[in-house]
Amino acid sequence: MQAEYDNQNIFARILRGELPCFKIYEDADTIAFMDIMPQTDGHALVVPKEQAVDLFGLSEAGAAAAIKSTQRVARAVREAFQPDGMVITQFNGVAAGQTVPHIHFHIVPRYADQPIRGHAREQQDMAVLKEHAERVIAALAKLPA
Ligand code: 5GP
Repeated sequence: MQAEYDNQNIFARILRGELPCFKIYEDADTIAFMDIMPQTDGHALVVPKEQAVDLFGLSEAGAAAAIKSTQRVARAVREAFQPDGMVITQFNGVAAGQTVPHIHFHIVPRYADQPIRGHAREQQDMAVLKEHAERVIAALAKLPA
């Protein structure tokens, strides 16, 4: 059974340009921006434009586009932040920890000497988020096509 899509969810509103975000990447099928409550520095989200609540509701083409963008943005985040490792996650359903009902992939850099912050807990300073977005955008510009 597919979950019903609520077109007023926060990512739908960001996708329509009704709410701001620190956008780092966009193509025909996906958009990526900095997570407003990052678990670590450089935490970014890749959001398919397709209206799907979760992975189960996403088309195969949408899934392929999403993982392609996730790999590309993750490469740029790695270049920009030089983390020791990186976690890529995607939550399906409230019971799994999903808080925004529009499919998205988390790119969470991990640093050996820094504990991870709580999920969707503490809003980052906007100037810091902006600077982080600029770093990723600069790294993306240097990636081979
Ligand atoms: P989920 O829990 O659904 O997997 O993840 C949702 C993510 O979206 C959380 O990491 C949360 O911090 C982030 N988030 C929630 N509201 C906003 C917002 O308005 N803007 C941005 N950029 N991120 C958001």
